[in-house]
Amino acid sequence: MAVLVRRGAQTLKRSIPRWVTTSGTVSNLSKRFSSGAAAKVYKNETAFAPLETFTEEETMMRGMVQKFAQERIAPLVATMDANSKMEQSVIRELFELGLMGIQIDQEFGGTGASFISSILVIEELAKVDPSVSVFCDIQNTLINTLFVNLGTEEQKSYYLPRLAKEMVGSFCLSEAESGSDAFSLRTTAEKHKDYYIINGSKMWISNAEHAGVFLVMANANPSSGYKGITCFIVPRDTEGLFIGKKEDKLGLRASSTCPLTFENMKIPESNILGQLGQGYKYAISMLNEGRIGIAAQMLGLAQGCFDQTIPYTKQRVQFGKKIFEFQGMQHQIAHVATQIEAARLLTYNAARLREAGQPFIKQACIAKYYASEVASLTASKCIEWMGGVGFTKDYPIEKYYRDCKIGSIYEGTSNIQLSTIAKFIHDEY
Ligand SMILES: Cc1cc2nc3c(=O)[nH]c(=O)nc-3n(C[C@H](O)[C@H](O)[C@H](O)COP(=O)(O)OP(=O)(O)OC[C@H]3O[C@@H](n4cnc5c(N)ncnc54)[C@H](O)[C@@H]3O)c2cc1C
Repeated sequence: MAVLVRRGAQTLKRSIPRWVTTSGTVSNLSKRFSSGAAAKVYKNETAFAPLETFTEEETMMRGMVQKFAQERIAPLVATMDANSKMEQSVIRELFELGLMGIQIDQEFGGTGASFISSILVIEELAKVDPSVSVFCDIQNTLINTLFVNLGTEEQKSYYLPRLAKEMVGSFCLSEAESGSDAFSLRTTAEKHKDYYIINGSKMWISNAEHAGVFLVMANANPSSGYKGITCFIVPRDTEGLFIGKKEDKLGLRASSTCPLTFENMKIPESNILGQLGQGYKYAISMLNEGRIGIAAQMLGLAQGCFDQTIPYTKQRVQFGKKIFEFQGMQHQIAHVATQIEAARLLTYNAARLREAGQPFIKQACIAKYYASEVASLTASKCIEWMGGVGFTKDYPIEKYYRDCKIGSIYEGTSNIQLSTIAKFIHDEY
């Protein structure tokens, strides 16, 4: 159905599926956009508001995503995992609901919402399926932000409406020989007249199966070391771009992860995103933000797993008692709940710092490191609390256990987060 959403003087026509409106989501959304309530919260009350205080818009977006995840994604999770394939309907609806262009301005067809909204969406999706969550995370925290921050007017007007509505993007930094040491990458971009010839390869590229555009980090001046690294916009149909077979992974199986090869790929100079030789700065700054997204993904995973487990412990009877009633169980459950709460506050605090334009890198590393530890602990404990059935595919817990492991690997391993945190501590004393 088409809905009129009013924001300031603008009235925009949105296409929102009928099922989303059953809880009144759309009318609430309209109300929020005309109320200006968010601005008031940020301007007058932020300093004293608890971390879990959200604007009306953020709260409604979270509610809408909860409903979407429960009704449209949850029934498909086991099949997507078994088939290692994201359902097309999920991708289509993510776009239809504006969840692939959360922070893209409405003038470009995006949702025009806050960074915090992206974080809440990533968390909510991860409660149900961390694969869908990362699909949405990469688009919002890496790809769209790079285009918004660095794109020329032509690049923005071509790509932003597409990224908001139909086009998936992939972020291409890692290579077989350069993972944690990302800036030792070997892909080269050789200058000719008004174009570059790119040769090399990438590994582990998320969303590559569906991507319409790839942001490729290549070195345009290897003699300058990492200061030659440049970000190139590479459309999927570019001659010389080859997308390899999906990795057969432990977890996040519905999220595609592919190698890429570039063979004499001709890319016009006008496809440089930002400035020549500044790619390393862009990658660092995007990954700093992106880590808050991964923290939210791990937080959502932990909460989703916990939510699916506790009801079982309140039903399962052993020794004539519900297993939840044993103090040995209660203390473990409370211990994990406390850590999930701590991960939530760290994640929201990092997100709020970023949104407020304050330094957030240390807090983002801490949040990502801690949330991935908590996700691993939670998933492991939940399997134990469910006993044998937790170890089977009859329950979703074993999938969370497989999915959580990625949190300590991508967008900087846990060791790399700890090294960055330690650098800050070193400079503080
Ligand atoms: C599912 C998945 C999706 C991914 N998606 C993307 C993507 O979309 N785009 C992209 O560009 N990349 C992506 N990656 C790549 C990911 O970012 C890298 O795997 C990660 O940075 C680690 O690099 P590596 O695998 O080469 O491990 P390595 O760097 O070889 O690390 C191996 C081990 O050595 C440790 N180590 C390395 N250096 C140090 C050090 N200085 N101090 C202490 N310990 C150290 C690490 O912590 C780790 O434990 C993805 C990876 C996976 C698995």
